Amino acid sequence: MRPTPTVLTPTQNATVASTAISFLLLVCISLTSLIAWTIWEERADQLSESEVTSDNMSRSLARHADDTFKAADTSLLGLSERVLVDGTSPAALERLHRLLMLRVKELPQLQGLAIFDKDGLRIVNSLANKDEYGSSADREYFLFHRINSNPGPHIGTPFQARSSGDWVIPLSRRLDSADGQFAGVVLATIHVKYFVSFYETFDIGQQGAIALILDNGIQIARRPLLPDSLGRNLSKGPLYALYKHGNGNGSAMIKSTQDGVERLNGYRRLNYYPIFVTTALSKDEILASWQRLAIVRAVLTLCIVAVIALLGMRLVRQIKMRIHAEQEARNARDALQGLNATLEKLAQQDGLTGLANRRKFDQAIDHALSRAKQSAMPLAMILIDVDYFKKFNDLYGHVAGDECLRQVAAVIKASEKRSNDLAARYGGEEFAVLLPDTNLDGALIVAESIRKALHALKIEHVGNTPGIVTVSAGIDVLTSITEKDSAASFVSAADAALYGAKASGRDRIQVHHPIPATGNT
Ligand code: GH3
Ligand code: MG
Ligand code: MG
Repeated sequence: MRPTPTVLTPTQNATVASTAISFLLLVCISLTSLIAWTIWEERADQLSESEVTSDNMSRSLARHADDTFKAADTSLLGLSERVLVDGTSPAALERLHRLLMLRVKELPQLQGLAIFDKDGLRIVNSLANKDEYGSSADREYFLFHRINSNPGPHIGTPFQARSSGDWVIPLSRRLDSADGQFAGVVLATIHVKYFVSFYETFDIGQQGAIALILDNGIQIARRPLLPDSLGRNLSKGPLYALYKHGNGNGSAMIKSTQDGVERLNGYRRLNYYPIFVTTALSKDEILASWQRLAIVRAVLTLCIVAVIALLGMRLVRQIKMRIHAEQEARNARDALQGLNATLEKLAQQDGLTGLANRRKFDQAIDHALSRAKQSAMPLAMILIDVDYFKKFNDLYGHVAGDECLRQVAAVIKASEKRSNDLAARYGGEEFAVLLPDTNLDGALIVAESIRKALHALKIEHVGNTPGIVTVSAGIDVLTSITEKDSAASFVSAADAALYGAKASGRDRIQVHHPIPATGNT
């Protein structure tokens, strides 16, 4: 058996459409949000990966710087010791000169080594021509050691060496005489380019930067090396502030005060010297590959969402069309049902008078008979015929005849007092009234009232003796229905009574059983 299709109400249909739209929106928004979230997470991953890279790089560069300065510093300590022990006799200075040249040869970071006396005059240096460039009295490192008794190493602001013109970082120590007085300075100058070329071996992109900065904010080496990089004071910058306020290590996204590029800066303090190294990776470069991928994914997602939205809209349109079609079908069905009801009514109605027709009357008799049989209640029928109606047509014409029939029908219709009473046009100018649960007295009253009501209308009929339209009626009443009672016998009994009424003078009522007729009163 085929399942009966569920028919939705218009409200339910509208809910289906709006649910479909909501579902569509939910899918599109969820998909877009999911992809956006994934893209954003990948960006965060990319940045944190770069943070680790920059931190690792800072760690190894700090170690490298420490080692570089340590090697030079160890030489300085050796020299200090030598001067103290050997003194500065010409022979000792000659040995020192050879030693200095040897050290400079051994350590590639060293540009030179020199020893100055308490007035800043060069005692010995590592140059081949040991007599050149004698004084350092005006140098920052010399002035620093003269007034600071601290015997530790000092790293100063980079300067251009007078001997070669190279940029160098001065690493120096104070020389004390045996009695603890300032006796001069031992100096190692370290090539800035030693650091810069080492930094150039790292892949930090086009806009990456690596810098070596003194604890006081003075920059002493940088990749890329800009004209004003060396000796530049960065103590006012945000990176320096972070370094000073933190524990010396960390990372942060900072816009450079040197070139305006936003970079992820990892910074780390050296273990042995008051210096920190910073490794900066350009934010744009870190995110470049992510950005390319993100754009591709965003475009693809938008395409997918657009396709889903288009297909979904089509689906919703189809749902709406189906709902519309269903509504139309419902309307058509309702209209058809209404039409059928009208047709049904028309099929049982007489066109001229609007009374029930013969067909309906026949059905009603059958129905009334079986009901009366069950209920044992009487059933009455009045058959009514217009007197001399042929003459009426002849006298007044067929159209007037029709109008007359309509008036007679209206009078008969008015006799339907109870819901089961039925007045019908039996045929031509004959009418019938079926009166369930009505005895003879009742039927006589109804028939008489019809006859009188018609009299009251006074429809002119010169062909009829009273001069107006009259009717004759025959009544039959079934008081106890038996098997031999049928619609046909019932009608013919009433018809016989009608015939009797006609025969006995018209404009009267006769009952099927021989009882005195009334009329002409
Ligand atoms: P009686 O008193 O014996 O009944 O005479 P009568 O002339 O009424 O009887 P008869 O049966 O000879 O004539 C009936 C007439 O009713 C014949 C017909 O022209 C007329 N008639 C029947 N149906 C219609 C109708 O629908 N419209 C009109 N105008 N006349 C009709
Ligand atoms: Mg007749
Ligand atoms: Mg007649």
